[in-house]
Amino acid sequence: MSEQSAQKKYEFKRKLEQLKSKKGRGTELVSLYIPPDKQISDVVSQLKVEHGQASNIKSKVTKTNVQGALDSLLSRLKYLEEVPENGIVYFTGAVDIGANKTNMETTIIEPPQQIITYRYHCDSRFFLEPLEAMLKETKTYGLLVLDRREATIGLLVGKRIEPYRHLTSTVPGKQRKGGQSAQRFQQLRLIAINDFYKKIGEAASEIFMSVELSDLAGILIGGPSPTKEEFDSGEYLHHELEKKKAGLFDVAYTDESGLSELVNAASERLYDIDLMEEKRAMEKFFAELVSESEKAAYGEENVRKNLEIGSVETLLISEDLRAERIVVNCSSCSYQNKYTLQLRAGELTSQESDASNNCPNCGSPIEIREKVDIVEELSNLADQMGTEVKFISTEFEEGSQLMNAFGGLAAILRFSTGI
Ligand code: ZN
Repeated sequence: MSEQSAQKKYEFKRKLEQLKSKKGRGTELVSLYIPPDKQISDVVSQLKVEHGQASNIKSKVTKTNVQGALDSLLSRLKYLEEVPENGIVYFTGAVDIGANKTNMETTIIEPPQQIITYRYHCDSRFFLEPLEAMLKETKTYGLLVLDRREATIGLLVGKRIEPYRHLTSTVPGKQRKGGQSAQRFQQLRLIAINDFYKKIGEAASEIFMSVELSDLAGILIGGPSPTKEEFDSGEYLHHELEKKKAGLFDVAYTDESGLSELVNAASERLYDIDLMEEKRAMEKFFAELVSESEKAAYGEENVRKNLEIGSVETLLISEDLRAERIVVNCSSCSYQNKYTLQLRAGELTSQESDASNNCPNCGSPIEIREKVDIVEELSNLADQMGTEVKFISTEFEEGSQLMNAFGGLAAILRFSTGI
């Protein structure tokens, strides 16, 4: 995954977390999914119908809030000239903010994948399932199962197996017909086997090359021994695809059911491949950490200082890191302070009251001038300095160490800085 898309994915995930935490007092939060092929004028007339129907809602507060949300949506749609490429989603409603208060809020999301279905949904929570499904991995693997009689080729897209082609061979059985010399028979048989492998290689290359090469995470080959080994060593695939081979697996079936057998047999390997890049980055960090080169930094303060002077080659951010960078100003003198606030589990943004201290210089109240997600802040800083950013999950040991022992932030440096 490219750096930029990793950051976008992180931001998208955070937005969904925030939306998930919001609730209405009644069924008054509106989620509106507009696919790209939907006419805006159709949406407007449907919302007007909903507005009319909302007048039947018994609770006066809920009725007012639902109609208020619909009014807000209708006025926003006036400014939408066309539906974006992947569609657009509006979340609008009177969100419960505690202390017996609600706040009319709107979040607009242009999703990373296309919205298929138009939906209008009104509930006490926002409706997020279609967007959450987009967060799941959508890596693609080439699948091939073969023996000397048949072969099946397919793709694994996310969790879905798509069979594409089934081939059968004309390779003669081991029993030769009378009158043929044993040697001649064996020779013909080997030629037929080689021809079949060539045919498989061509068909598989065509199917696998239909996927953008950078999106193809690997090729899995299954079958009985020694067939799959023979195919593997013969380089029958396009040379660019040869580099994508991710393993050979024992599989009994070589028809369509063999494809799912292959995916099951390879499940552990698939998991490793998913994490391989992250694992490599963490291994490099640990190697620098124990070497004398002093090209490793960790903890927010050290990492930040190194980022600022441009000495960071790779910035490692734990996917579980949740913190905000806050800048406060004194309301009457020139006092200013910056600090980082770790968010507690389940807390999505800090409350304003966190900074309601008084100025140490003059005693006047302190005001928050800036509050920004620390991941966003550091990623932007990294961008300016040409630093590579890697997001590290906590699904493997070194990854959870990054979060628990190093505060979720570490850096591999270009050179030793002594910071
Ligand atoms: Zn002051």
